[in-house]
Amino acid sequence: MEQHSRDFLRRADEALAEPERAANRAALGLFMPLLRDQAVEAFDSQAFQGLRDQVEAIRRHSLDNLGHYLEQFIGQARENGNQVHLARDGDELNAIVLDICTQVEAQRVAKGKSMVTEETGLNAALEAADIKVRETDLGEYIIQEAGETPSHIVGPALHKPEAEIRELFLERHDLGERDLDSAAAMVAEARQVLREEFLAADVGVIGSNALIAENGYSMLVTNEGNGDLCANLPKTLIICTSIDRVLPRPEDAMAMLRLLVRSTTGQAVTCYTSFYSGPRREGDIDGPVETHFVLLDNRRTELLASDYREMLQCIRCGACLNHCPVYMSAGGHAYGWVYPGPMGSVLTPLLTSLDEAEALPHACTACGRCEEVCPANIPLPDLLRDLRAEAFAEGISARRWRFGIRLHSWLARHPTLYRQITRIAVRVMHRLGRDRGFIRYLPLAGGWLQARELPSPEGDSFLASYRKEHKS
Ligand code: SF4
Repeated sequence: MEQHSRDFLRRADEALAEPERAANRAALGLFMPLLRDQAVEAFDSQAFQGLRDQVEAIRRHSLDNLGHYLEQFIGQARENGNQVHLARDGDELNAIVLDICTQVEAQRVAKGKSMVTEETGLNAALEAADIKVRETDLGEYIIQEAGETPSHIVGPALHKPEAEIRELFLERHDLGERDLDSAAAMVAEARQVLREEFLAADVGVIGSNALIAENGYSMLVTNEGNGDLCANLPKTLIICTSIDRVLPRPEDAMAMLRLLVRSTTGQAVTCYTSFYSGPRREGDIDGPVETHFVLLDNRRTELLASDYREMLQCIRCGACLNHCPVYMSAGGHAYGWVYPGPMGSVLTPLLTSLDEAEALPHACTACGRCEEVCPANIPLPDLLRDLRAEAFAEGISARRWRFGIRLHSWLARHPTLYRQITRIAVRVMHRLGRDRGFIRYLPLAGGWLQARELPSPEGDSFLASYRKEHKS
């Protein structure tokens, strides 16, 4: 994982230099919020806020009693005939899945979308053991064919314009008589290829949107139905998810579902909502013979005990990404890991290290849109600010930043001097930009002015003008 500040800025620069993809992101930045707004209005905005509060309370309660509900879930899931494994970190999860695949002599795995397995790098671990993995979510399938990583937690291939996908399929597929003149034709093409993969797979791997403690079931929502085919066609099913997905009761999962889908795609409900209970029972006509849950911790218990525990309330809807001006400009790949946008800028430093991901909490304009739309009421801007403060206190931030912040905080505590210095600075800036009306260069602000011009100040600071007006 490349994660230093310069890498984020470099990758963001590269993303901005790709006009077609940048235009694609700009269109999504307008379109996705509109879908959510319409869904909220149709639901009734006041009732929607009530539902947000309810889901926040459910998530808080589940996390406050995580040990209890996890134990209950594991007990119920085992009673239903599942095998349950706990993985401390990504390597352990990969080793457990590989071990299951080896035991059933699997050669092919069909996979549904799972951010947890992206987090652990499961595909590479299986492929290193000569097991063929096929992603079956359309977006995941496209980026797997392209050799890329997801750019969005819900729409992994949202960064790819239609023309790029067509070119990719033309290059990778033996099309024969089939043509790809429309998006529908491309979807049909992927469907045809993927049908064979589902039928040939020995093992299915899927994720989970919620684990239900009361009955030991797992809930999965998709719009393509590929999760159900991964779960029911291969003889062995493995559900990989993280320990924080557990909820007490089925009705809690349903409340979350009503909020999740509207916040994500603006739909009232996803096309497929499935509950997996366990292996096929006597008399069942289909379903897996053997089922496993692999529950990942990967620093989540540490996170639970920290000041950032609210981040675990996240239901992975992607709304904060869709409303973030930085995400929409820089694109998901700039963030350098699995989770992009505001939720990723908080989660990545906490699940990896603040030292490596220090740039991400700064990838924020503090506009507050993410908090406004977050269905779990997570105070994302506050968490980002706290991470910046922590990076400063631990000496992780760049020396020049720490010097600048210390200088500013010292000056702010000496108001007379502060006023004099700002007055001089404003006058100097006024002179610098007087002729053109804007400023192109300022010491220490080279990066900021690289892509924009700073309008020249009118000649006095706000405070000085305010005083003058009040005297007269
Ligand atoms: S932080 Fe909130 S808005 Fe962002 S993905 Fe999580 S639940 Fe959705």
